[in-house]
Amino acid sequence: MKTSSNPAGRPRIIVLTAPSGAGKTSIAKALLKRIDGLRFSVSATTRAARGNEQDGIDYHFLTREAFEDAVAQKAFAEYEEVYPGKWYGTPYAEIDRATPEEPMLLDIDVHGALRVKEKYGSDVQAIFVVPPSLAVLTERLRARGTETEEALTIRLDRVRYELSYADRFDVRVVNDDLKRASDEVTRLTNQFLGRVVSE
Ligand code: 5GP
Repeated sequence: MKTSSNPAGRPRIIVLTAPSGAGKTSIAKALLKRIDGLRFSVSATTRAARGNEQDGIDYHFLTREAFEDAVAQKAFAEYEEVYPGKWYGTPYAEIDRATPEEPMLLDIDVHGALRVKEKYGSDVQAIFVVPPSLAVLTERLRARGTETEEALTIRLDRVRYELSYADRFDVRVVNDDLKRASDEVTRLTNQFLGRVVSE
């Protein structure tokens, strides 16, 4: 599949949001592979690095003090306490990397996404990935086996809350099947970028 970009385009931002367990990370990976020039926006966070996450690649891992300094210096386009005591922010420096040929992909939470949309308007495509149903989502989260029942209940409450914001996004894609959902997000993103895709 080949794409040709619209030379008169503006820098664009693709924002991908989903309740946890909805398959957002897999869709983000598929998009980065399939959309020419798309680059991942590296957020700052105060949470600790997990597994083989690397500083500056997965996140900029900051201490609480460094994060607060960055907030004071107005370094973030948006920031949020996504989980109690865990702060996340999108540096302007990442958004500013966007060019017509190299749009940026932001993988951020509901509030961050809506704030970026408010700030950058029609230069943003805000995508909400919807889990097929709460029942399926519960299954997926249980199957991961990384959470206690209590933590699972907290997560599911958060999912219900996040789902209530889905209508405010530009597009909603149901992740009933990862391949189908990735194809749909790719198509919508190419369309938004004004790219002609020839098979
Ligand atoms: P995790 O800790 O699992 O990597 O991410 C937790 C949540 O924080 C995810 O929903 C992720 O999309 C969101 N997130 C990551 N970076 C940012 C950011 O810069 N701003 C906001 N608002 N949310 C973020």
